[in-house]
Amino acid sequence: MQIDPEAGRRIHGKPEPRVHIETFGCQMNEHDSEIMYGILAQMGYVKAQGPDDADLLLFNTCAVRESAVEHAFGRIGQLKPLKYTNPDLIIGVCGCVPQVEGQVERIKRMFPYLDLIFGTHNIHRLPELVERARSERETVVDVWESMGDDFPDILPAAREGDLKAWVTIMYGCDKHCTYCIVPTTRGKERSRPYEVILAEVQELARQGFKEITLLGQNVNAYGKDLYGRHGEGAFDFGDLIELIDRNSPGIERIRFTTNHPKDFTRKMVEQIARAEKVCEWFHLPVQSGSDSVLRRMKRSYNRKQYLRLVGWIRELIPDAVITTDIIVGFPGETEEEFQETLSLVEEVQYDAAFMFMYSERAGTPAAQMEDRLSVPEKKERLQRLMEVQNRIARAKNEARVGKVYDILVEGLDKGKPDVVFGRTRGNILVTFPGDESLRGRIVPVRITRAGTWTLEGELVESPVTLA
Ligand code: SAM
Ligand code: SF4
Repeated sequence: MQIDPEAGRRIHGKPEPRVHIETFGCQMNEHDSEIMYGILAQMGYVKAQGPDDADLLLFNTCAVRESAVEHAFGRIGQLKPLKYTNPDLIIGVCGCVPQVEGQVERIKRMFPYLDLIFGTHNIHRLPELVERARSERETVVDVWESMGDDFPDILPAAREGDLKAWVTIMYGCDKHCTYCIVPTTRGKERSRPYEVILAEVQELARQGFKEITLLGQNVNAYGKDLYGRHGEGAFDFGDLIELIDRNSPGIERIRFTTNHPKDFTRKMVEQIARAEKVCEWFHLPVQSGSDSVLRRMKRSYNRKQYLRLVGWIRELIPDAVITTDIIVGFPGETEEEFQETLSLVEEVQYDAAFMFMYSERAGTPAAQMEDRLSVPEKKERLQRLMEVQNRIARAKNEARVGKVYDILVEGLDKGKPDVVFGRTRGNILVTFPGDESLRGRIVPVRITRAGTWTLEGELVESPVTLA
C-alpha cells in the first residue's frame, strides 16, 4: 500500500497534524483503530493528547447492543463544541454502526456537522477518505457492503503498548445467530493466508512483543474459506496454532479469541494442549444453557455438545481457565429456560463470564420474534445470573490462594509506584509488590488474596514448582 507521507500536512496545512480516535466495542474495533493510527502515521499524523488538540477526530463505533450505540452517540454529541472552537477540525464516524441499514441517515440527522462517515470494510482507503472530507462541502459517506478484493493482506498498525499484540487471522462471520448484528457489520468470513499471519507474528517477535492474541469472530472456522474443510490442502485453526507455536521464537504466549463451540473440534483441543506457548485460556461463549433457546438463537450446538467440548478441554488441559458470554432475556425465554442457564453455569464452573441483557437489533431474525419479557424482568434475571456466576468466580479464585503462577508483568498498577500488574497464562489479572524493572518479564508469583475478578500476590524469590 503506497501512502503519501505529505498527505496529512497538505490536508491540514500544518507540519504535524494530530489525530485522536475514540474506540467503542470489541477487540476487532480496538485493532482496527490501531490500523487506522498506523495508516495515518504514514500520512504524517501524530497521536493527539486527546480530542481537544486533534485536527482529525474519529469515532470507531460498536453496534452489537443498543447501549453501545447510545454510548458512542452520547460521546459524539458531547464533543460537538470542538467543531466550533476549531472550525478546521475534521470529524468522522466509522466502524460497525454505519454498516447497519438506516444508521447513516440517523447519524447524519443527529450530527449534521460531521465531515466523514465510513464503515468497517474500507479502512484501507482512509487517505483518500480524509482528503475528500477536507475538499467536499457535504458529509462524505462511503460505506461498503463487503470487503473489496483490494483489501490488502498487510496493513500498518500503530499498536497500543509494546508487549501484547492483536493479530487478525480472519474477518467477518458466517454464523448468523438470530440475535446478532455482527454478520451485517463485519461481512462474510475471510481468512488471512497463514504465511501472512506467521510473517506478522515473527515481525512482532523481532520488535520485542512477548504475547500475541489471534483474533476472529469465530477463530475455529479459520481456513475453511481459503483452504477448504477437509482433504488435501486443508489447513485449519489447529494447524495454524501448531505452525505459529513452532515458528515464533521470542513470543512467549499465544492466545486466541473468540471461539465458536460448533467449530471447535477435539483435534484442535489436542493441538492446543500440545502447543507449549498456547495459553490455557478458553473463551467459549455459550449464550444459553437451554436447548430450546439455543435453537431459537440458531447457535447450531446443544447443551450436551457444548458440555462435551468442555469435557475435552478439562480432560486434556486440566488447569484450563474457561470463560463465556451469556445473553439473558432472549425473546420468549421462560423461567424454566433461564433456570437451565443457571444450572449450566453451576455445572461448568466458569472462571468468568460476560453477561448481557438481550438487546433487539433491527434487521435480525430475533427482532421479529415475540418478546414478552419486560426490561425489569430481564434485569432481574441478569442480576440472579450475576450472583451465581460471581459466587463461583470468587470460590475459584479463593482456591488459587497459596498457588504459584507465572505472570507476564505489564507495568505499574495505576497510580501506585510500587505495585505491578500482569496476567496468568489463564488470563487472570494479578497485582503484586514490584517495580518498573519487572516489566516484560515472566515471574513466579504466589497468590495471597482473592477477589471476584482479580488476584493479589507476592513475588516468589526461591525456585518453586509452578501451579
Ligand atoms: N463472535 C463471538 C461469539 O460468537 O461469541 C462474539 C460476538 S459479540 C461481539 C460478543 C457477545 O455479545 C456475544 O457473544 C453475545 O453474548 C453478545 N451479543 C451479541 N448480540 C447481542 C444482542 N443482540 N444482545 C445482547 N448481547 C449480544
Ligand atoms: Fe454474532 Fe454468532 Fe457470529 Fe458470534 S458467531 S459474531 S454471536 S453471529
